[in-house]
Amino acid sequence: MSTTDTRRILLVEDEKTIRDAVAAYLEREGYWVTPAADGRAALDAFATHPFDLVILDLMLPKVSGEVVCREIRNHSDIPLIMLTAKGELDDRIVGLEMGADDYLIKPFSPRELIARVRALLRRVHTGDEPQRDRLIYGDLVLDITAHQALLADKDLDLTASEFKLLTTLARYPGRVYSRMELVEKVLGYDFEGYERTVDSHVKNLRAKLGDDPRNPRFIYTVHGVGYRFEPQDAPEEAAEVAQPSKSKKSRGAK
Ligand code: CA
Repeated sequence: MSTTDTRRILLVEDEKTIRDAVAAYLEREGYWVTPAADGRAALDAFATHPFDLVILDLMLPKVSGEVVCREIRNHSDIPLIMLTAKGELDDRIVGLEMGADDYLIKPFSPRELIARVRALLRRVHTGDEPQRDRLIYGDLVLDITAHQALLADKDLDLTASEFKLLTTLARYPGRVYSRMELVEKVLGYDFEGYERTVDSHVKNLRAKLGDDPRNPRFIYTVHGVGYRFEPQDAPEEAAEVAQPSKSKKSRGAK
């Protein structure tokens, strides 16, 4: 593995022995590790450095892993693995509901963690799910990397949640998403009045897109279920700039 595609990992864990051991394993695998011993340090590091993946302990001093996760999810869809101790959560699913992509219950083997890290990075960078740089539907352009949505060359100025909502829907046109699914995918954590929350994000999104719910061009309400994206006047060969899925070989490496 070449140093040009070294992945940077933010490792948040307050127990020094675990932190040091995990960091050592990750570094041996060629990852670049930034350790953080509490939630505040994690958020500071996240705000000031680029990362490719976050490993986040749930129970942390100063700022809890739950809050850190929600905070990160407000700004980013970076791959995130949650670490929980047995019994900390009555249901491990809770970790995923907070917006984590994966979770590990302590004690875990370092090998298991490495496997999860690899799998998650592979999924994001080469995509079992198609991870496209840009989604283009007629005059609607969603630039995933730049976090920008343009309609007829005009920046829609979407909030992070609106952007995530729109790209989630637009990645699979025609697929119906329930409100619950959208809560999980888009909002990650916020369960209070979740239906209303999704509805109000959709409402704002429609306003910015100029999309009339009674005669939609993009977002359809599926009554009793949720929403789907279905672009109406997209050109026949709606261009999709996809990352070639077979780009596993040396990307920039020699
Ligand atoms: Ca802890």
